[in-house]
Amino acid sequence: MSQSQSQTLPSNNSRCNNNPSRSKSEPNPPSASARECSVCGYALYLNVARCTNRDCPKHGRKDGPLAITADRLIRDFEPPKLFHGRRWKKWVFDAERLCLVFEGRPTVRGEGANQYTGFFGSYEIDLELIRQSSQLLDWIFQVGHHRLPGLLDAFYSIFNPQRNLCSGGANKIIANPTKFLKERTATVGDSPLKDAA
Ligand SMILES: [Zn+2]
Repeated sequence: MSQSQSQTLPSNNSRCNNNPSRSKSEPNPPSASARECSVCGYALYLNVARCTNRDCPKHGRKDGPLAITADRLIRDFEPPKLFHGRRWKKWVFDAERLCLVFEGRPTVRGEGANQYTGFFGSYEIDLELIRQSSQLLDWIFQVGHHRLPGLLDAFYSIFNPQRNLCSGGANKIIANPTKFLKERTATVGDSPLKDAA
């Protein structure tokens, strides 16, 4: 990380792991068009190909509210898993380094067998250092107004905070953030359309 980038880091002085393990990413990730909204770039609900972004024109349903059962509704709108390069406005999830990158662009790093494509940008949040709600809150107020768009959507998708961090206003702690993040990230065999048939 360059000197100029390190100046924007918050007081906890966190930075993402730049030596990712090679087992994390999918060797043959599904094409972006299969899981990203063509309008806004947010992830799609894969069973219905509607956009997860509530502000997007592709978020809306065609069916009326009475046209489908509750079970079908839950199935159709099951939150998509995280994946390398998933976007929320200008924020991008880097599954290799388990961080959230502002204005992240795919960049090849490393040599030979250790070569990988990470997302690097102007500012980043090390997700492995977020274990409780106070740390999440610190980032929300740390990043600056111009970086806020998309950040709450990203945190919602990544942490589901009301389930995992602050249920009922009580503080919960994520015991193993790395394991938590990996479990929420699509891995080999997680076909995005496996339930669509
Ligand atoms: Zn969209």
